Amino acid sequence: MNAPAPPLALLAELTHRCPLQCPYCSNPLELVRASEELATEDWLRVLNEAAELGCMQAHFSGGEPTARRDLETLVAGASQAGLYLNLITSGVLLDAARIDALAKAGLEHIQLSFQDTDVASADHIGGYAGGHAKKLDIAKQIRAAGIPLTANFVVHRRNIDRVPAMLELGVALGASRIEIANVQYYGWALANRAALMPTREQLDEATKIVEQKRETLKGVAIIDFVVTDYYARRPKSCMGGWGRQFINITPTGKVLPCHAAESIAGLSFDNVRNRSLGDIWRNSTSFNRFRGTEWMKEPCRSCDRAELDWGGCRCQAFAVTGDAAEADPACSLSAAHDNLLASAVTDSQSEQTAFIYRRIGGAIHALRDDVPAARSNIQDPADARLRGE
Ligand code: SF4
Ligand code: SF4
Repeated sequence: MNAPAPPLALLAELTHRCPLQCPYCSNPLELVRASEELATEDWLRVLNEAAELGCMQAHFSGGEPTARRDLETLVAGASQAGLYLNLITSGVLLDAARIDALAKAGLEHIQLSFQDTDVASADHIGGYAGGHAKKLDIAKQIRAAGIPLTANFVVHRRNIDRVPAMLELGVALGASRIEIANVQYYGWALANRAALMPTREQLDEATKIVEQKRETLKGVAIIDFVVTDYYARRPKSCMGGWGRQFINITPTGKVLPCHAAESIAGLSFDNVRNRSLGDIWRNSTSFNRFRGTEWMKEPCRSCDRAELDWGGCRCQAFAVTGDAAEADPACSLSAAHDNLLASAVTDSQSEQTAFIYRRIGGAIHALRDDVPAARSNIQDPADARLRGE
């Protein structure tokens, strides 16, 4: 196999600590504690190795990356290494002084997530009282600091009918990009699928509105729309192809081709604590396992889309068929496609409204829907969950 081209972007998952508890969080069900996280020096070395490898961008994510007190140090180090820097945040731990410090350290862009436009619903979905109001304020502070803003809305059955209001809010906040992202069903979202899956009609309506608004908002804001592939006929090009463009590093230093890759049984992943990032990117078994097209079976092997969508998502193929080398079941040519679609339709009709909230042990403690989200104590950064205990 030829040496792979350099990655475009590194997603640095600095921590799994987060004051919110979104039931669709992309973090794994087993959350990592603060004591297991990479140290500041490890991250600084890895960010330099990424730049040396030819990587262009670093996206600081989590969990909630601002829970790391060394975030400014990491941003400054990555900036000196020449990386373009984006922060993916819920915003609730930020304030004007910290935004200013991050901007001075070299941060170039912030993606701020919203759970809804309806205040009560947003706070309920995030499991964090007062969160929505705080986010509105932080969005203003981000723009006041001159940092370009993306407003990110994760949509599902409970809020997708408010896509028009989400687009309005994004524009009102001065976002240059608005991301309407349908929930992707892995990890916590898979555990909550019956409470989150939208109906086909809801998705079609949201798609129509996004297409109309893309025209009317031209020159004002770019709209990104991430679709639910359960209702698709062809899969997305997941991560732009396995090991082609992206590197994901977990809080403990594991290097993954995508954030959900650990869900594939039988694959083991190298760690930056004992191998350089460049060596892992070029030579690790896990990155080479599904790189290119050699690993493909039929129907992907002889398909003219093989180098367009790269067979779709390996994690979804594994989750549904038990074999990560199968075509993504989102593809109508996959033998598992009809079952996937049927399960989506069944879930979208479910009367389940209770969420299993994202928290340590949360997957086994489903909360009743009528339990109020109010937990004002968790706004204290000294809170045990922020310390990862
Ligand atoms: S999705 Fe929600 S719970 Fe998960 S890291 Fe983001 S804000 Fe926190
Ligand atoms: S058969 Fe494979 S390569 Fe072809 S469209 Fe379906 S998933 Fe993509």
